[in-house]
Amino acid sequence: MLRSLRKVLPEKGRAAGAFDVVGLEWAEGVLEGAEALGLPVILSVAPHLGGPPLKALAPGLRYLAEAARVPVALHLDHGHTLEEVVEALRLGFTGVMLDGSHLPLEENIRLTQLVVAVARAYGAGVEGEVGVVPGHYGPEEDREEVLYTDPEEARRFLEETGVDALAVSVGTRHGLYKGPIRLNLPLLETLGALPVPLVLHGASGLSSEEYRALVARGIREINLYADLALEAARVLKEAQGTYLETMAAVKEALKGLSMARMRLWWG
Ligand SMILES: [Zn+2]
Repeated sequence: MLRSLRKVLPEKGRAAGAFDVVGLEWAEGVLEGAEALGLPVILSVAPHLGGPPLKALAPGLRYLAEAARVPVALHLDHGHTLEEVVEALRLGFTGVMLDGSHLPLEENIRLTQLVVAVARAYGAGVEGEVGVVPGHYGPEEDREEVLYTDPEEARRFLEETGVDALAVSVGTRHGLYKGPIRLNLPLLETLGALPVPLVLHGASGLSSEEYRALVARGIREINLYADLALEAARVLKEAQGTYLETMAAVKEALKGLSMARMRLWWG
């Protein structure tokens, strides 16, 4: 069943999985996992990853979400323009993120206010971001430096935009880690006092203990892509069957991985 992003985020102490999917077999694997666990789930599409065009993928995802026996939000992850947000909403997405985290705070607030106004008309939820989680800008403009979320900026952003979920930067990075992970849990503890579900980006490669510590302090949505991509690539490398058998194996592997993470994050 397709639901607004606002309806699938749990209370503090639990986190819903938000899985970036780049193909229908990915979505099917994740949804089968969520159904097996009886948990709500978020299917995200991040255009910068370079999967199929939003217009091509959206109808299939929408069909799968509506047919699912658990609440499913369809979410635009890291939208870059207002046009992209509007396109996603028109295609039936129930949550949108326009990532203005790299902009000056004033501009981020102004842009996010526009997104909230448009999304409300569609009954969709909005995720904003303050602070920069590095690593998703691609090889040319990759940023290695973590810009931790400033609690005062986050509070102001929240008050002035009214977003439904807030992505924060507390030491994680997108993609695969090249060095040690330095989570700033005291900062997250402070941010966790804000009256909004917090979202974790750059969640691949963390340990069970790290996930638990993050969820205990207010992370209520966890985005995952890199670990799924690694798992899919592993299956493809080892594949010996037909194309369809291989795709079925990818789906099963992603189901298994997403289930393990959902179980851990939900607590
Ligand atoms: Zn992200």
